[in-house]
Amino acid sequence: MGLDDITTRIRQAEAEAGRAPGSVTLIAVSKVQPEARVEAVLEQGHRAFGENRVQEAAGRWPPFQARFQGITLHLIGPLQTNKARQALEMFDAIHSVDRPKLAQALARLAQEAGRCPDLFIQVNTGEEAQKAGIAPGETDAFVAECRALDLPVRGLMCIPPVDEEPSLHFALLAKLAARNGLSSLSMGMSDDFERAIAQGATHVRVGSAIFGERDYG
Ligand SMILES: *Cc1c(COP(=O)(O)O)cnc(C)c1O
Repeated sequence: MGLDDITTRIRQAEAEAGRAPGSVTLIAVSKVQPEARVEAVLEQGHRAFGENRVQEAAGRWPPFQARFQGITLHLIGPLQTNKARQALEMFDAIHSVDRPKLAQALARLAQEAGRCPDLFIQVNTGEEAQKAGIAPGETDAFVAECRALDLPVRGLMCIPPVDEEPSLHFALLAKLAARNGLSSLSMGMSDDFERAIAQGATHVRVGSAIFGERDYG
C-alpha cells in the first residue's frame, strides 16, 4: 500500500503487458481523504489527482496549486450541467461525459473559453440502471456526436459492476475505443488496476490503495 508500492506494481503490469514504462498514468483519487494524506503524496512528488465532486475539489486544490507546481486534476465523478463551467475552468480532464446535454453544454462553454479539458466518455459497460454512462450500443453514435461538436474526446472510461469479472468490461471498453479511433482508456481502480493495464488502460484511478480507506463518517 502507498504511492511507491502502487507505482512499482504499475511498472510491473506495464512490463508484463509488453507496454512501455510510464505509458500508464496514475491518477491518485483523493476524494474524501484528509488534507494531510493528500499533502504527503504531493510531497512525494506525485502530481495527477482525481476528484469526484466539483465543490470538494474547488475548496481543496487552490491552496495546494499555489504551493506545488504542475498539478493536474481529473474529474472522475458525475457532472451536473450547472457545474460544467466551473469544471471546465478547474479540471485538466473530465472522465464522466455521459449524456448529450452535458456534451452540448461543454461545447458551448469551451467555445466561449477558447479551451477545453481532455474528455473521456463514460460507458456503462454493465448496463446497470443505477450507473451513469452511455450504453455500449450507443457509444459509436455518441462519440460521433461529440466530435461533431468539436469536443476533444481522448478516450473512454468505465466503472465495472462490483460483482462481475472486471477484465470482461475492460476488454469491451478497449474494443469500443479501438473501433472509434480513441487512444486513451480510463479504467482500473485499487482492486483491479493490474487487470485493467493488461487490457490496455492508459489511465488508472487508484484511491484507497494509495491513501488508505475513505472515512465517510
Ligand atoms: C472512488 C473512485 C475511484 C477510486 O476507488 P478506489 O477503490 O479507492 O481505488 C476510481 N474511480 C472512480 C470513478 C471513483 O469514484
